[in-house]
Amino acid sequence: MKPETRLTRIGRPHDGRGLVNPSVERGSTVLAESAASLYDAPPGKPHYGRMGLSSQTALREALCELYGADWCMLTPSGLSAMTLPLLACTSTGGRVLAADCVYGPTRKFITEILPRHGVQADFFAPGIGAGIADLIDEKTQAVFVESPGSLSFELQDIPAISKAAAKVGAVVIADDTWSAGLLMNPLDLGAGIAAQALTKYVGGHSDILLGAALARGETAEKLKDYERTIGCHVSPDDAWLALRGLRTLGVRLARSGESALKIADWLADRPEVSSVIHPARRDHPDHALFQRDFTGASGLFAVTLKNFDRARTEAFLDALKLFGLGFSWGGFESLAIHCDPQIKRNHGKPVGTLIRFAIGLEDPGDLIADIEAAFAAVKA
Ligand SMILES: *Cc1c(COP(=O)(O)O)cnc(C)c1O
Repeated sequence: MKPETRLTRIGRPHDGRGLVNPSVERGSTVLAESAASLYDAPPGKPHYGRMGLSSQTALREALCELYGADWCMLTPSGLSAMTLPLLACTSTGGRVLAADCVYGPTRKFITEILPRHGVQADFFAPGIGAGIADLIDEKTQAVFVESPGSLSFELQDIPAISKAAAKVGAVVIADDTWSAGLLMNPLDLGAGIAAQALTKYVGGHSDILLGAALARGETAEKLKDYERTIGCHVSPDDAWLALRGLRTLGVRLARSGESALKIADWLADRPEVSSVIHPARRDHPDHALFQRDFTGASGLFAVTLKNFDRARTEAFLDALKLFGLGFSWGGFESLAIHCDPQIKRNHGKPVGTLIRFAIGLEDPGDLIADIEAAFAAVKA
């Protein structure tokens, strides 16, 4: 079955009552039937609320099925879906290698928190591919990738990187928020852990913060044990909303990706635009990797603008009426931001004024008209 079909089947309750959705259960205490069963609950039956009740379990099961994973760690934000696996997979004296294009807050965690635990961090150029073997040493415990990077959209060769990492037993952790678990599966490409901000496409309505990290085999056991031991828990309501979002993820993501490519095509012909950066376009430098590893386009991309200083860039963004100005993406409403001038990179920054568009569910023609009007407004 195709993913769109599976999204309508997975994570349903199987308690024999016939409801197609789990209920939101609130509870900390789960009473035992007898003193003997206090320490002897049947496997899979939660004996305490922190393990998650029906909606969290349904969401976990749905995501495990989508990724072909054995465990899904649910985390209270997308960022913690990146940071907790990094903690779970490292220890003092170890080392982490991370792609230079990773999400800013993930980078801050890697550079500021990991060293406090005695874990050294180094960044590599996203296009490194099999060349990462030269950087990997016996101390390397994890390699963190984000493909494509959510600001500069460089892809990473996950199979080549995973192969090199496997030689020293390092786990590859992949932030695949852009593909939402639907357009690419890092676990099938060799990564040990696939992590995403459910806040974005899965949530889909800009009303929850949530994350998930998934793995198979021994790594799955490790994540499960870490989640339980560190006390990570998400609310039943947020899990329920994420599961509801998952039902329509296929159509929303397809629509968002299709509109994004239409708008990108239109932008490519505009005199104000020097480049359009979307990996599904033939003119993207990593397009061959995209064709090999991805099944479709997502709705987040960027353009660079010609002769737009800070004031003109801000005037352009302020003139947009349909695009909200805000961080995050994956919701129903289109958003735009300009690239943070403080962006940190070791291996070359994106050049020019970078505008990131997150395309939502509006009519693409209306969105194009909105951008056209904003260009006209800053022409004078
Ligand atoms: C938004 C985002 C995150 C963090 O998700 P939150 O839910 O906002 O914490 C992590 N990675 C990427 C690529 C993101 O876009």
